[in-house]
Amino acid sequence: MLSPDELEVGRNMEPKEKEKKPKIPRQSMPEQDPRRRRHNYEEVPYGYTDELAKTEASRCLKCKKPLCVTGCPVNIRIPDFIKLIDEGKFIEAAWKLKEQNTLPAVTGRVCPQESQCEAKCILGKKGEPVAIGRLERFAADFERRAGKPKLPELPPPSGKKVAIIGAGPAGLTVAGDLVKLGHKITVFEALQEPGGVLVYGIPEFRLPKEIVKYEVDYLRKLGVEVLTDYVVGKARTVEELFKSGYDAVFIGTGAGLPMFMGIPGENLVGVYSANEYLTRSNLMKAFRFPEYGTAPIRSKRVITVGGGNVAMDSARTAQRLGAESIIVYRRSRDEMPARAEEIHHAEQEGIKLMILTNPVRVIGDEEGRVKAIECIKMELGEPDASGRRRPIPVKGSEFLIECDTVIPSLGNRPNPLIPMTTPALKTTRWGTLEADPDTMETTMKGVFAGGDIVTGAATVISAMGAGKKAAASMHEYMMTGKVTKPVKEEKKEEKEEKK
Ligand SMILES: Cc1cc2nc3c(=O)[nH]c(=O)nc-3n(C[C@H](O)[C@H](O)[C@H](O)COP(=O)(O)OP(=O)(O)OC[C@H]3O[C@@H](n4cnc5c(N)ncnc54)[C@H](O)[C@@H]3O)c2cc1C
Ligand code: SF4
Repeated sequence: MLSPDELEVGRNMEPKEKEKKPKIPRQSMPEQDPRRRRHNYEEVPYGYTDELAKTEASRCLKCKKPLCVTGCPVNIRIPDFIKLIDEGKFIEAAWKLKEQNTLPAVTGRVCPQESQCEAKCILGKKGEPVAIGRLERFAADFERRAGKPKLPELPPPSGKKVAIIGAGPAGLTVAGDLVKLGHKITVFEALQEPGGVLVYGIPEFRLPKEIVKYEVDYLRKLGVEVLTDYVVGKARTVEELFKSGYDAVFIGTGAGLPMFMGIPGENLVGVYSANEYLTRSNLMKAFRFPEYGTAPIRSKRVITVGGGNVAMDSARTAQRLGAESIIVYRRSRDEMPARAEEIHHAEQEGIKLMILTNPVRVIGDEEGRVKAIECIKMELGEPDASGRRRPIPVKGSEFLIECDTVIPSLGNRPNPLIPMTTPALKTTRWGTLEADPDTMETTMKGVFAGGDIVTGAATVISAMGAGKKAAASMHEYMMTGKVTKPVKEEKKEEKEEKK
């Protein structure tokens, strides 16, 4: 007999399938012991074994109307790839994922699944959702380790040339989608390695760089040309790209300009933007010094200011570089924007969270080096425009924390270089590019944009979702000279119902 819970979760299944479903708990993923990992850069979770993956995949009800898919910004056919894992067809599962997602090994690791696909999974209504992200990661890793990427058959060349500015998740997604439609793609990347935040921001212990390299190499195998150390706006402008024969341009330059606290003492030696701190460690490989030439920043006590993923990454990096690591955040723990798993991992590794605390000034010694930070206690008032309760300083509660390094991790803004050198592009008051949210067309003909440069700092998967929309519009634009707005899913359903 099925319990009421089981009947509920299986309501859009065939009766025979319902009978077969036993209650299996969500499979946890083995991970490195926190006492060991706080001293190394190896990846924290080990990933599922074949057996764990199959067990987890068997929990999925393979719903006829899968709600999980509605929570995925790139519309991965989630039940289809999970079914393949359930049947032991692991490589086929990865190929299925790659039909929609150019970077499954990346998104399987860094996506906030708990607020996206897994938040919609029907099993989550009464119990624990299917671990979709862990299964995605498993399939993509299996394919990589087996060394069997499936190169799709490409159509004959279209004769059209596309310039993509920025090799982050948005640009790489556009490259993957358009090369498969027969277009010639060149990606221009300012840094020495492609990947955007995936290589310079997110640390090795969360996303090993060999994974990003593998995904970029896959695009290269499909014929995508990637030019590194190439700053568009300096080496060539957008207009010059058109003059040199490109038919369409995509701008995916992200939001790499750090924001500061605006308090006295921020220019002292020992205050680093999170971008600089993380780039030294990740892209410049300071953590592998002296094998690599960049020396790591060795500190005794590091104060990271902020509560997002960037703050968690900075604080966990500081801990691994041997410092005592403290996070100062002005709201409560529940309001921290970082993924729940990242906060949990940071705490497990011994990082101290000082919540409801805000810096007031950084204090230096006679040589201009950081020696302390003055903070004030906060309390929560009424909700503000963001819907979160507004933090209010508690009068007279100022106190000092001795430290030698401060890392403001308050978020990033877009770099103004491209808008400044391309007058036809309109920007918003936040410095982001104006783009149609359905087609990703900018205010300049033939130029499309997506990712953090349009939304401001957001997520990997939202950048990829924008990349997919832009690629579809760019293809239509190059082949027909026009761009039509896609019909929204609800409208499609309305039309079908009327029929
Ligand atoms: C430390 C950190 C941790 C994060 N953690 C997560 C996480 O766990 N999960 C998640 O979903 N999101 C996370 N994010 C956010 C996520 O990484 C971004 O939203 C995403 O990378 C945006 O993708 P993008 O392609 O728009 O831009 P980016 O990834 O920023 O890539 C833009 C690329 O454009 C290049 N570029 C810029 N200007 C030029 C130019 N003029 N010419 C040529 N190239 C140029 C840059 O060098 C960069 O490589 C994190 C961000 C940071 C900083
Ligand atoms: S992951 Fe959840 S919602 Fe999606 S098909 Fe499986 S059981 Fe249904």
